[in-house]
Amino acid sequence: MIIVLRPDATKKQLDHLVSKIKELGLKPWVSKGIERTIVGVIGKEDVIRTQPLEVFPGVEKVLAILKPYKLASRDFKKEDSIIHIGDGIKIGAKKIVVMAGPCSVENEKLLINIAKKVKSSGATILRGGAFKPRTSPYAFQGLGMKGLKFLAEAKRQTGLKIITELMDVRDLDLLLKYADIIQIGARNMQNFNLLKEVGKTEKPVLLKRGMSNTIKEFLMSAEYILSEGNFNVILCERGIRTFEDSTRFTLDVSAVPVIKSLSHLPIIADPSHATGKWGLVGPCAKAAIAAGADGLIIEVHPDPEEALSDGEQSLIPENFEKLMKEIKRVAEAVGREV
Ligand code: PEP
Ligand code: MN
Repeated sequence: MIIVLRPDATKKQLDHLVSKIKELGLKPWVSKGIERTIVGVIGKEDVIRTQPLEVFPGVEKVLAILKPYKLASRDFKKEDSIIHIGDGIKIGAKKIVVMAGPCSVENEKLLINIAKKVKSSGATILRGGAFKPRTSPYAFQGLGMKGLKFLAEAKRQTGLKIITELMDVRDLDLLLKYADIIQIGARNMQNFNLLKEVGKTEKPVLLKRGMSNTIKEFLMSAEYILSEGNFNVILCERGIRTFEDSTRFTLDVSAVPVIKSLSHLPIIADPSHATGKWGLVGPCAKAAIAAGADGLIIEVHPDPEEALSDGEQSLIPENFEKLMKEIKRVAEAVGREV
């Protein structure tokens, strides 16, 4: 349910309405738009339906949100959400944000070397997994705590912000300390307890689409985070399972404009995991930007043959630099900048 306030509604009227909603055991979420203030009401549907909220002073109308995701929907918030990463970086604004780095953190020297290179090409956020979700229990599982320390050192030396994956609720405090953005991977998109826990923090979260999940399910997972109070959610299309086997997954480019129409949350694309092949990363990255994506997350490794994970889809720094120049032109063609 959303309550649309009159343009001349006062703060006192808003406060009164909010406290009344809380008294009913419901959760109010205030969204201050440019023209109007909207109050989203979440809670038991029957309680909501029986309340005559229209009668409150300052209220213009009360509308039901018919979609199963409420706070993530455009009905709740018309304007695009902009997620701030520290002081300088905004995701969802005019500027395209590029996150780049190795699939896994492997060692300090290599990580710092990659960080410096991707920074000089224009990336502003360093990616690198310290906890890795691997299909095989015998494959490299990540460096854990040591990896987080290397990320911190790379951040200190370059000023890049850090994105790294959280797989286990027990590591949340560590990630809150070391990460500027917490990544929830495709395999955990429906780990609802994990979603609720990151939802209780204020840390920006990159939520990747599950490889077999619909857009509706994807937005319901975002709703889990929002409904706990964390509105700093960035979505990521990273390819889905289809019958096509010439790529690792299939980048669902149309998910970008579909999600833009359904939700106010920013969406970025991951052409590395979507294609699984470094030669396809560039074309798919450009397609995603042309389709309206707010950013990219790209794997970069100077020696893909020796990479401990995902070497086949990693760009060498020289190719990443070339791609950044190409992305700039595509971004400008669709009214964005890099
Ligand atoms: C990753 O970003 O390294 C990763 C494992 O991605 P995904 O969860 O999309 O497979
Ligand atoms: Mn990877």
